[in-house]
Amino acid sequence: MSNYPERPVAVLFSGGDSPGMNALLRAIARLGLNRHGVAVFGIREGYRGLLRAARLGSRSEKDLFVMKQEIASRRGRWGLIHPEQDIVMLDHASVSGIVGAGGTMLGSARCLDFKKPGSRAEAVNLLKNLNVRALIVCGGDGSLAGAECLTKESDIRVIGVPCTIDNDLFFTEMAIGVDTAVGTLVWAVDHFKDTARSHKRIMVLETMGAKRGELARLSAIASGAEMVITPEGGPVTMDQLRKLAESIKSGMEGGRSHTIVLVAEGVQFEPEQYVPSASPDQPPGKRNRAYVLADYFQTFFHQQEGELKDLEVRPSVLGHLQRGGHATPQDCILAARFAELAWNSIMDPSERSGITALRNGRVELVPFGAPDMPERAEMSAEFSRLHASLSSW
Ligand code: ADP
Repeated sequence: MSNYPERPVAVLFSGGDSPGMNALLRAIARLGLNRHGVAVFGIREGYRGLLRAARLGSRSEKDLFVMKQEIASRRGRWGLIHPEQDIVMLDHASVSGIVGAGGTMLGSARCLDFKKPGSRAEAVNLLKNLNVRALIVCGGDGSLAGAECLTKESDIRVIGVPCTIDNDLFFTEMAIGVDTAVGTLVWAVDHFKDTARSHKRIMVLETMGAKRGELARLSAIASGAEMVITPEGGPVTMDQLRKLAESIKSGMEGGRSHTIVLVAEGVQFEPEQYVPSASPDQPPGKRNRAYVLADYFQTFFHQQEGELKDLEVRPSVLGHLQRGGHATPQDCILAARFAELAWNSIMDPSERSGITALRNGRVELVPFGAPDMPERAEMSAEFSRLHASLSSW
């Protein structure tokens, strides 16, 4: 097949999306074309699309041949408008005008099937049959765990790029999407603040962050939210809840016009607060953290004397709003830097598989499974102290 490229690089986006993924895709495609003269294959819907293509390509020699022919002939936008084509060779035009656009043009997905070694072997087989030089996996913790499995089970070169709004990957100072998500949360807090101030209310806002509260912490400092509750301190007991309520009370008594509380979704309570099961065969689910806190604070204020008794507490779960929106310049710049490092590593025969990371302001490739940077935990503690000093009255 004369127009099939020699040793292309493939890229996929997996798991929860984050703003800046499109900037990353554009940078990967443009650096491949402009600097290295290497073709870039975009794989749709992460590992799910990769497995779909693997199964199609393994049916027969003819199916694989047809797939290669389609990739080579239906390039760029022409390939992208064919939803059944899971692998598309990207050209300049297909990544034009997407740099700051939120979401991911190639789609992202979760794929339980990829956790099975047999399925991953099928994926490796396809990548070899397509003569892929390296696979770039862009995503969070889970996606990078999947990428690490590929490196252990095959000799395929895999480069991971951290993309998550949670900033919960502690081997890097920053992941793509964090800066935009913090900006979105600041915007949201500003809006809640307007109405909270008018009604002298307490607003409890739930942010993303299943394991770590980095997103909530950074957003609290940047937005001026008065209180931030994160999972790192362990389960919140009833005694701690009472102390938190007392501290809101003293701020309101001291003249605060409102209180904004940010709580990360991964915070645990002791005892845990459940919602009843929807049906007898379903286990009970955890109540949203914002509702648990708001109920507790509301009951606490109802038990007070005077004006405090009438204080209203309102919960809001910010949810997927945090994942969307135009990527900030910081995220787009980080995406370009990570893309450049990914390419430099791929084109250097002495380099190995690894993950791009930002350390002490420099981008570098770290091995899969790299330990956490101790500075990250120190920085979290510093941010908590700083927030406490900025927000107490
Ligand atoms: P994120 O990458 O945003 O953390 P997930 O944790 O949902 O998102 O992971 C995304 C996908 O990565 C999963 O659906 C699965 O296909 C793959 N994955 C996650 N963990 C593993 C694992 N331990 N082994 C292999 N693949 C994994």
